[in-house]
Amino acid sequence: MSVIRTRFAPSPTGHLHIGGARTALFNYLYARRHGGQFVLRIEDSDRERSTDEFTLSILEALSWLGLDYDEGPHYQSRRSAYYAEVIERLLAGGHAYHCICTPEDLEAKRAAAQQQGRVSGYDRTCRDAGHTPQQGRRSVVRLKVPLEGQTLMTDVIRGVIAFENRELDDFVIVRSDGNPMFHLVNVADDIDMGITHILRGEDHITNTPRQMQIFAALGARPPVYGHMPLIVGQDRTRLSKRHGATSVLAYRQAGFLPEATINYLARLGWSHGDQEVFTRQELIELFDPGDINKAAAAWDIEKYSWVNAQHMRGRGLEELTRLVRPQLAERGQGGCEEARLRQAVALVRERARTLVELADQLEPLVANAITYEAKAAEKFLGDKECSLLLGLCERLEVIESWEAPAIDAAFRALCESQAIKLGALAQPARVALTGGTASPGIFELCAVLGRERTIARIREACTAAANGALPLRAPAQ
Ligand code: GLU
Repeated sequence: MSVIRTRFAPSPTGHLHIGGARTALFNYLYARRHGGQFVLRIEDSDRERSTDEFTLSILEALSWLGLDYDEGPHYQSRRSAYYAEVIERLLAGGHAYHCICTPEDLEAKRAAAQQQGRVSGYDRTCRDAGHTPQQGRRSVVRLKVPLEGQTLMTDVIRGVIAFENRELDDFVIVRSDGNPMFHLVNVADDIDMGITHILRGEDHITNTPRQMQIFAALGARPPVYGHMPLIVGQDRTRLSKRHGATSVLAYRQAGFLPEATINYLARLGWSHGDQEVFTRQELIELFDPGDINKAAAAWDIEKYSWVNAQHMRGRGLEELTRLVRPQLAERGQGGCEEARLRQAVALVRERARTLVELADQLEPLVANAITYEAKAAEKFLGDKECSLLLGLCERLEVIESWEAPAIDAAFRALCESQAIKLGALAQPARVALTGGTASPGIFELCAVLGRERTIARIREACTAAANGALPLRAPAQ
């Protein structure tokens, strides 16, 4: 059996979006599973809409996801000589022809056909006219599609789909400016690059019979196709900016891990029993395009976050600390010494689903100055609470070993002496130390903060609260 070769062929007209990344992933997985090759081709033949910036951004996103390719990137913009040769071959073989109908002619024909209730495709006026290109005369090249019969596409996801050839139209393969069209370059490259399998979005289904006609005209065997379901938002409409960020790199920025992203992308339309968490190796071993659903897949940021949390657990403490530091640095909090940051990460990691959430949790633990939620401060940093807190500071000052059990004992002793519940002290302390009411265990929190910082922060908070001078922040969402 010949080697399996798949490809990812993005057009650099935007950043790599979720749908594109899933397409790349599935082609990658299929090639890896079967010991084949995964080719990257940048479809930048549309020079007006393609930019180098988007190409670089796509390459960066693929590299972040770890979707390494065995060949490429090939650039269509550098392959014009090859396309010219393919066009010549089609013309010489009588599979394509020059059409000199003007846009006005075509529009008039279309209107007439519509009025008479006929299918409004090209009426093939020039099909057998034998036109040759002439100076000063505008012409395009069209493919001579058989007038009868059917094009049968066997799709690994959808089964066999039949298209009537007469409905395919003699579509344009070269524009009047001499530039080849998408269908032509796409197929010419798939032939030249020996692509055996193509997984792509279902928006390409209607392109496929036309492309299969080009394969046939060039005497080449078409690849095996699989058209994947659309990705939709929770409202079941096609995923778009309205549903949040669609670019993959935006999720790197939002603190998602590449392995979690791959895991979640794979689950968009593909499943393996009810397993939700997969390593890359498992995906490679299990991925079968036959298991891809026909129904649209719904993008669910909650689920993605959950999957990310699972993968964050899989990363060691040291690793997570390394990953979160840039997030903290962006907030001007990158300088925390390693041991203390690691201790802080250990304390809050279970409470965070993304690296950004982890940084949110870490911030009060590593920052020199914090801000306060107005409501929490109002409720928990009144005169009565502050006098309790100042009493607490006195007890904290004399603890022998600054560790959670001793801190715990100091809190409890004060509560006992005042005949109050632990919560009546712990909650004000939490607000004084973190600025909000949600935090990990208060004793562990104090332990990580260190004695000096804990006491200073409580005292400063109480003074500022008494003077109405607490630095406030917007409430958490
Ligand atoms: N450049 C096309 C796209 O981005 C590729 C289509 C294909 O995979 O054949 O949609």
